[in-house]
Amino acid sequence: MKIIFLDIDGVLNSDTWEKTEAYKNGTYPENRFDPNAIVLLNKIIEKTNAKIVLTSTWRLKYSLKQMKELFSKIDLKCDLIDFTPDLKKENDYTLRGNEILKWCKDNRKIIGTKYLNYTDFIILDDNSDMLYWQSKYFFQTDKLCGLSETVSREAIRMLKK
Ligand SMILES: [Mg+2]
Repeated sequence: MKIIFLDIDGVLNSDTWEKTEAYKNGTYPENRFDPNAIVLLNKIIEKTNAKIVLTSTWRLKYSLKQMKELFSKIDLKCDLIDFTPDLKKENDYTLRGNEILKWCKDNRKIIGTKYLNYTDFIILDDNSDMLYWQSKYFFQTDKLCGLSETVSREAIRMLKK
């Protein structure tokens, strides 16, 4: 199964988006999502059929059901299947990459292989606290502009391999 490990802040919103009238006049939490980034993510999903596993700290504030409802409200046409575990609550030095690793190890049935052989995924995040073996699949977005056309094109290419 193809999976996008998805962050939200700095990916589906950005510093640039937060300067717009649409953001300022919008209502929370829907206004935290830049429609242009949603279009780009929808395109990745449509072209690759990838499912979403949420890595963002939003997963600590909302339930899976609430996130699904929110995604549908903002027209993100995705299959949100799970959240990564919260390992930071036990150890503040934990990297997000470790949480992704744990999810892969715990969900071997879903990914269909051992985590070290798993190649059908990408990670979208503006921060870079990932693990070395994930680096090939990691696409870093720029917090200033969020998910870009270039990153989405590269992501599609990687997921289609
Ligand atoms: Mg972020």
